[in-house]
Amino acid sequence: MRYLILFCFIAAFVIGGATCSRCDQNIASEQHAMVERRVRFRGISDENVLKVMRDVPRVAFITEEHHKMAYDDVRVPTGHGQTLDRPYEDALILNTIKIKPTDNVLEVGTGSGYLAALMSRLAKNVYTIEIVPELGNRARERLAKLMYTNIEVKVGDGFLGWDEKAPFDVIILTASPATIPTPLMKQLSEGGRLLLPLGGEERFQELLLYSKKDGELVLDRRVAPTQFVPMKGKAQEGKK
Ligand code: SAH
Repeated sequence: MRYLILFCFIAAFVIGGATCSRCDQNIASEQHAMVERRVRFRGISDENVLKVMRDVPRVAFITEEHHKMAYDDVRVPTGHGQTLDRPYEDALILNTIKIKPTDNVLEVGTGSGYLAALMSRLAKNVYTIEIVPELGNRARERLAKLMYTNIEVKVGDGFLGWDEKAPFDVIILTASPATIPTPLMKQLSEGGRLLLPLGGEERFQELLLYSKKDGELVLDRRVAPTQFVPMKGKAQEGKK
């Protein structure tokens, strides 16, 4: 009888392990298909971007009730009325900004932490700010569990940037302001790149790429029309 129980334990362990590794394989192949169909097929060609999108498991940044949406090109709810951006949007951001291994990056709008995780594979350090405390704290825990050691998450208003960690070579906003926040302009390094969806609550936002030359922001490229969530906090002061 004792041997039978032992046998059952070992069998359960082996079968469980096999099932689990099959799950991992399924995740990897679904993720691979997502990158091919939703990202490369639509014109994203930077091999470094395609590689990180294959490597970072998007499903790990999504709550269980929405797991089925992990590999579609759709926005996924992250709670508090906020969303994880579409994979194509994240890919477009990365393909445009061209992060280098020496870059110090600031992200405004941590959300789930997924874009921060993608960027951390390409950059030296990623500093990311989230205004909703529950989202920021959850992202911090999740990123620590997944062993992303070069990301720091701060709960606060990204309008003000993160002075102690400036200057930044790259600043990315995934929440849309109506005008460019002045502290962010100041915290960008000379030669640095700023990518943001400008428009705030307007129906039409534009993803714009700027760089800093002789202390001034210069518009390099109008990348695409977009629809990100409006930036909250100070960015909305003075309205109404
Ligand atoms: N990049 C995220 C998705 C961002 S959605 C991801 O990978 O999941 C935009 C996020 O910006 C939301 O979580 C929203 O709460 C946050 N946000 C809005 N206004 C902000 C502000 N002023 N400062 C910091 N975060 C802000």
